[in-house]
Amino acid sequence: MLVVKKFGGTSVADKERIFNVANRCIEDYKKGHDVVVVLSAMGKYTDELISMAQDINPRPPKREMDMLFTIGEQMSVALMAMAMNQLGVSAVSLNAFQVTMRTTSAYGNARLKRIDTERIRTELECRKIVIVTGFQGINKYDDYTTLGRGGSDTTAVALAAALRADSCEIYTDVDGVYTADPRLVPSARKLKEITYDEMLDLSTLGAGVLHNRSVEMAKKYGVPLVVRSSLNNRPGTLVKEDAKVERMLVSGVALDRNADRVAIIGLKDEPGIAFKVFDCLAKKNINVDVILQSIGRDGTKDISFTVDDGNIEETVETLEENRGRLSFERIESETRIAKLSIVGAGMISHPGVAAKMFETLYNENININMISTSEIRVTVLIKDSDADRAINAVHDAFGLAE
Ligand code: ADP
Ligand code: ASP
Ligand code: MG
Repeated sequence: MLVVKKFGGTSVADKERIFNVANRCIEDYKKGHDVVVVLSAMGKYTDELISMAQDINPRPPKREMDMLFTIGEQMSVALMAMAMNQLGVSAVSLNAFQVTMRTTSAYGNARLKRIDTERIRTELECRKIVIVTGFQGINKYDDYTTLGRGGSDTTAVALAAALRADSCEIYTDVDGVYTADPRLVPSARKLKEITYDEMLDLSTLGAGVLHNRSVEMAKKYGVPLVVRSSLNNRPGTLVKEDAKVERMLVSGVALDRNADRVAIIGLKDEPGIAFKVFDCLAKKNINVDVILQSIGRDGTKDISFTVDDGNIEETVETLEENRGRLSFERIESETRIAKLSIVGAGMISHPGVAAKMFETLYNENININMISTSEIRVTVLIKDSDADRAINAVHDAFGLAE
């Protein structure tokens, strides 16, 4: 049996936790399993690297950021191998170069393309525990890339798929996937199971417990995931194709506090304008989310949309560069908008779910700025200062509380 076990930053934050993880992995190893471990950087080390970089250059080149980021994961894998060796088990740490994990070239937001499994297999055959750096890859220029914040989950799932692992376990600092972030919503309930689709929406909409691409990849390759705590032995949450839970209308509520909003005012009201706007952003690899287009008046219209945290400056710059082609009056932008979403496969067949969410917010006297929906989710943009109250009220209104 081959198991891939991924541990996040808090789980390897200090010497005691590193030994705790080492022992958990050795337990599996001693059962005769092949064990591949994926690690994140220790504690908040990636955030510290960002502060260090920004202190030197407020807008550091993305290539150099990735070069810097990779040391975080390299440090934790090397220390983990040392801990396992100290405990009498032979282990080897490998980075993205040594494994050869190829990605697309986009620094800071690369996608995994191909993983060579040969080196890992050779090490496993020598009965070593193999510890691999999460989050990093290499592109066609042989430069380091990273997979986006939280990307170690994706490394783990990709390795599990490439190695045809029997299980992929994501260990973190909470007991599993909850109906909402348990740190924000004290009454949140742990889910026994959740479908890939629901989890994908939750993670894309702000539930940081899993990197959204890890869920996308798990679905694509049919890798069942289990999310559980590195600090206890409770069972955790299974993420799979068909979840056999009592079908709730809404399975979870997610909050993203870092959305930024851009409004382009006074665009020409003619065919092709939306295409031109989003095409120039796509060419810069800028992800756009909730989009709202106003009804045209006096030959002009407005388009507003949200972009992920950290992309606002590049978005506004790109639009300004294309001012000639797009022809608009002005751009307005706003940062730190809260994006609150409810997700649930049960919504498809039940009208009135969105109305209930809006009513709940109305009862709390919370104003909605923008709305977007799909078959299995409803998203609203609200003021950040309303976010805590809103997520708790909506969570409770749908009967999710424990
Ligand atoms: P790791 O370092 O292990 O990858 P993360 O901080 O990336 O850990 O993810 C775990 C965190 O995700 C939890 O501490 C929790 O605050 C947050 N979280 C957000 N939404 C949820 C949710 N629906 N269920 C569980 N945890 C959630
Ligand atoms: N260390 C990286 C981050 O903090 C990757 C990860 O933790 O998954 O985003
Ligand atoms: Mg994470």
